[in-house]
Amino acid sequence: MSDNISEKELIRLRRLVRILKSKEGRGTELISLYIPAGRQIGEVANLLREEYSQAGNIKDRNTRHHVQEALTSIMQRLKLFNKAPDKGLIVFAGYVAGEVLGDEKMEIYLLEPPKPISTYLYRCDSRFHTEILEEMIKVGNAYGLVTIDREESSFAILEGSQLDILETITSGVPGKHRAGGQSARRFERIIDIMVHEFFKRIGERMVKYYMAERKIDGIVVGGPGPTKYDFLDKDYIPADLKKKILGVLDLGYSGEEGIYELLERSKELLQKVEYIKQKEEFNNFLNLLKDNPKGLVIGIKEVMGAVAKGSLEKLLMLEDVTILTVSYTCTNCGNSETVTEATEDMFSFKQSLKCSRCGSQNIKIVAESDETDNIIEKVFESGGEVIYISKSLNESYSLAKTFGGIVGILRQT
Ligand SMILES: [Zn+2]
Repeated sequence: MSDNISEKELIRLRRLVRILKSKEGRGTELISLYIPAGRQIGEVANLLREEYSQAGNIKDRNTRHHVQEALTSIMQRLKLFNKAPDKGLIVFAGYVAGEVLGDEKMEIYLLEPPKPISTYLYRCDSRFHTEILEEMIKVGNAYGLVTIDREESSFAILEGSQLDILETITSGVPGKHRAGGQSARRFERIIDIMVHEFFKRIGERMVKYYMAERKIDGIVVGGPGPTKYDFLDKDYIPADLKKKILGVLDLGYSGEEGIYELLERSKELLQKVEYIKQKEEFNNFLNLLKDNPKGLVIGIKEVMGAVAKGSLEKLLMLEDVTILTVSYTCTNCGNSETVTEATEDMFSFKQSLKCSRCGSQNIKIVAESDETDNIIEKVFESGGEVIYISKSLNESYSLAKTFGGIVGILRQT
């Protein structure tokens, strides 16, 4: 099975990725470093010293200094380790550009990845390379993949981008027999019984892997030839499990090889399923808006109030929204205020702030904090669910423009 990452850890890492992705360097000066599990730190330090001397060739003076300083702070931090931790180590470091020239600030992030790192990677770029980390924390639903033909059947679970092949069983059913007459009929009957026994075993495995051991969001069945339909037409699996079947695909291969083919072929199908689920959640919200608007909270203020009371059953938000709290003072009239907004563009939001008393844009931000993690965690803690609405959906536009990017469904009391 894949390593289990706790929901809290996932939220924290997802947020961190989002923050890292928003950072830019003035030049090619942001360093991303992925150190594989168990690698000797001395060895890594040697590689970094080499990068340090290479960086001496950088023409731009600022960039050169920035890269070398970043390398120096990484090496200092690494001294705390003998060798990389169990799953390896990820470091992001560099001078991050501020809003105005000269605002650059040295930032360094050191983290143990949620899954083992297998290859060493060093990158110096104008952005942080978060792709490998992102791949590790990609979550989606869990799907069962099954291949079936007369000879063998394989079972797998696809979760996010992680594929786990669980088992392959074989039937022992011999190929077609050529003899005619009496013995051929008897032979066929024996084969029918063997196939029936094999189908029973397939059914048992499916119940075990996709019902008993864990909850699965859907199943895709594939295989060459008509055997898979013979199996599905009869009642070898309970109706509850049958309802979970999202599609049946014809494949060139069976068994484990078939699983890989099925994985490729079902990607589009599974993406559609995820979108359909998000659409349903949003439509459910729209229906409630018509039938029971009191059961809803709309916009950041109302949502925050409901979160504080622990009364949210579901929080629906755009996938890239950040909940930002900003405190400012107005240099025109002296007014001080704190505002919270759900925004996809923190920079424009801060740029557009106006004094609520005098309307002046001459305001000075004195404090700001990202509340997104906090709020999501509180929803989970009170037993609620968080549903992200993908930007690829038309519904996301309506959620953003009409409802401020964030809405909630209250628990029925
Ligand atoms: Zn003012």
